[in-house]
Amino acid sequence: MGCGTSKVLPEPPKNVHLDLVKKVEPSSGYKTDVCKLFIKGDGDGIKSAIPSPPCYTSPHVEQSEPRKNRVAKYRAKFDPRVTAKYDIKALIGRGSFSRVVRVEHKATKQPYAIKLIETKYHEGREVCESELCVLRRVRHTNIIQLIEVFETQERVYMVMELATGGELFDRIIAKGSFTERDATRVLQMVLDGVKYLHTLGITHRDLKPENLLYYHPGMDSKIMITDFGLASARKKGDDCLMKTTCGTPEYIAPEILVRKPYTNSVDMWALGVISYILLSGTMPFEDENRTRLYRQILKGKYSYSGEPWPSVSNLAKDFIDRLLTVDPSDRMTALQALKHPWVVSMAASSSMKNLHRSISQNLLKRASSRCQSTKSAQSTRSSRSTKSNKSRRVRERELRELNLRYQQQYNG
Ligand code: ADP
Ligand code: MG
Repeated sequence: MGCGTSKVLPEPPKNVHLDLVKKVEPSSGYKTDVCKLFIKGDGDGIKSAIPSPPCYTSPHVEQSEPRKNRVAKYRAKFDPRVTAKYDIKALIGRGSFSRVVRVEHKATKQPYAIKLIETKYHEGREVCESELCVLRRVRHTNIIQLIEVFETQERVYMVMELATGGELFDRIIAKGSFTERDATRVLQMVLDGVKYLHTLGITHRDLKPENLLYYHPGMDSKIMITDFGLASARKKGDDCLMKTTCGTPEYIAPEILVRKPYTNSVDMWALGVISYILLSGTMPFEDENRTRLYRQILKGKYSYSGEPWPSVSNLAKDFIDRLLTVDPSDRMTALQALKHPWVVSMAASSSMKNLHRSISQNLLKRASSRCQSTKSAQSTRSSRSTKSNKSRRVRERELRELNLRYQQQYNG
């Protein structure tokens, strides 16, 4: 949800012009590394302590030819030290400066994810340093665990726990039902992780649905927070104020936009945005034009009009209102959010209204209109509707397939 790969990056690199909001394109054309290689621990000690996710049939058991070729292409980009230890299985994610692949440890057959980050550019190096600095410090059930790191001159390979359950919203669409109680369960797990981070003096600064992954495809899967590329870790003796303008536009807190020194409460604002989306499938603040979007955020103006809001409880709306508060000192902390009556009472509640229909319809509508605007930007007036219809059909087919896969898995 949001502006896709658009992120506001920490600091413009020297000699390179960057807009305040930079659309980050994945770097293309990998060169062969002629490198010094530093292996930072082999991770074997940690590995045994980390349980692997329950084994489910992979949706990609049979690999098609193009897929095999793609995997072969990515395999070739890996340093021999990495491929000596891990089998590269499939490309599972693309980030701003990174590729994420599913791998298998050759000796133990344990699956992992490897995030490969290009560090030859300033931005990639910055993102990588922040991510490593945080991941090396954290250990929490709702945060992806770093296993080991391989570094070369131009790339860093982070071996991490593998989350096989998909991103938050794909799962909600596929699930078939979604209630306020389901929403509070998701939020409880994310809040637990965020509370832990804040206790350590770490601010994530890029909380959004794409960075919340399910550990496995089963109904009872936990959620894990990933992507610490924009995270800030307070050093001993530092005050807790940050100044860097960064984040993903739709989730950025007002105090960041006005360039005031800010605290970890920016994560709580982002959680307010996520909660709003979680309950409606729509964004609280949205505009194609970034200036207008930022104006909406600065005013803190959003509405509860349209489906499914009339069916959503006032307690849930109160929870969101206390997070989407323009003054950060009035915003709930993670601990307060965990104690909010909506979160506490929902955990005990049993029968709930199913909001799934409106939420998934809104999410699908949004996904297809985003495809439409991306496509139409590149196409002529006459071909526009054909292309957008096609992309909507493709997206809907993908979602139907996803739904079917989950149903098959649940039914054994
Ligand atoms: P970026 O910082 O470039 O956004 P991310 O860390 O968010 O990179 O990774 C990009 C995508 O790769 C994620 O949105 C997710 O779909 C996938 N991904 C990342 N880490 C994992 C993981 N540990 N397990 C499974 N998928 C992952
Ligand atoms: Mg990400």
